[in-house]
Amino acid sequence: MGDPFHSKKPIGALLIFISLILLAVFVAGCSPSGSTSTASVQASTAGAGTSSAQAEASARPQPDSTVSGANLPGAAANGAGVDSAATAPGASPDSLSGASQGAQPSGRVHQAGEPIVILMYHHFTERGLWRNNDAVVYIDDFAAQMAYLHREGYNVVPLQRVWDYAQKGAPLPYRPVAITFDDGYESNYTLAYPILKKYGYPFTLFPVAGWLLEQNPPHAYDPAKGDLLDWRQIDEMVASGLCDVQSHTFDLHDKVDGRSLLVAPRINPDTGLQETPEEMRARIASDLRMAKETIENRYGRPVYALAYPYGVYDAQVMEIMDELGHGLGLCMGRSQHRDSMKAVIRLGVIQGDGVEGFARNLKRWSWTPKGK
Ligand SMILES: [Zn+2]
Repeated sequence: MGDPFHSKKPIGALLIFISLILLAVFVAGCSPSGSTSTASVQASTAGAGTSSAQAEASARPQPDSTVSGANLPGAAANGAGVDSAATAPGASPDSLSGASQGAQPSGRVHQAGEPIVILMYHHFTERGLWRNNDAVVYIDDFAAQMAYLHREGYNVVPLQRVWDYAQKGAPLPYRPVAITFDDGYESNYTLAYPILKKYGYPFTLFPVAGWLLEQNPPHAYDPAKGDLLDWRQIDEMVASGLCDVQSHTFDLHDKVDGRSLLVAPRINPDTGLQETPEEMRARIASDLRMAKETIENRYGRPVYALAYPYGVYDAQVMEIMDELGHGLGLCMGRSQHRDSMKAVIRLGVIQGDGVEGFARNLKRWSWTPKGK
């Protein structure tokens, strides 16, 4: 009498087993490798914002560093596109619209709403130096970070392509990353550029145009200092097809009473009087125009982007940018107008990130142009 009972049990188990297999097949079909990227698209940038905020706070190598600050921007009076290219490491870039090829899944391209990363670096040095300045990244960490991008299938694109995407919907490759360097440090040329060349990675420099000499006096490279690039070095990088040059003002990378000269009135040193709003506006417009024209006249390509010193901007600056034709404004870790292309946040890479923190921040990053 027990047979019917016993004969049913194996059948029930078999049905459950088959159901589980069908369920597994269904789930696998619905979530290809996309589950990871979907998660990263939706993740908030709260975590990444922490390090970015730190970077912002100490965004620029400061003269009060442990090492000599005599050559740092601002410490002395100083007068003293890219490309793309890139295909595989070693390839010679020859276009302004390419992208480096990492290990991305074949056929996978960037989809609307997926994150776009704009990395922000400043100065580089050898491990152990500049330990009190988060904005100075160890060059071996930078090498490991570039290797990580390549290995993990990120595609380094010229910043111009991010702009073209935001403006015109021009397609981007899978996991797009743009690389930017603020202030124009010589270490960008001596230390970072050889690594970027190895991978064929395009990058954008934001030098303070009025700080650069045509050619630096002969000197041995000293990693303990924050020497600036000269125009000849930038010429060489631009000629490689990897380097694009954009604006970080002509000479407004300074503060008055703790406020950026891009948003605060200056005191006339001769009269002791604060400039009028009209004078202030004219000063800022004149400076930004000079930076833009200096770069455009030298390289024959439009300057479309302004990286705000200290990441600080206001409504007036945005208005002046429109008048002059900069469409893209880059902040640091924070933006008051996350939907505006004139206040785009970048992922600041800081000394403490190493490759682990870098990878973690990349995965959390969620910025993408509004409506895309
Ligand atoms: Zn700066």
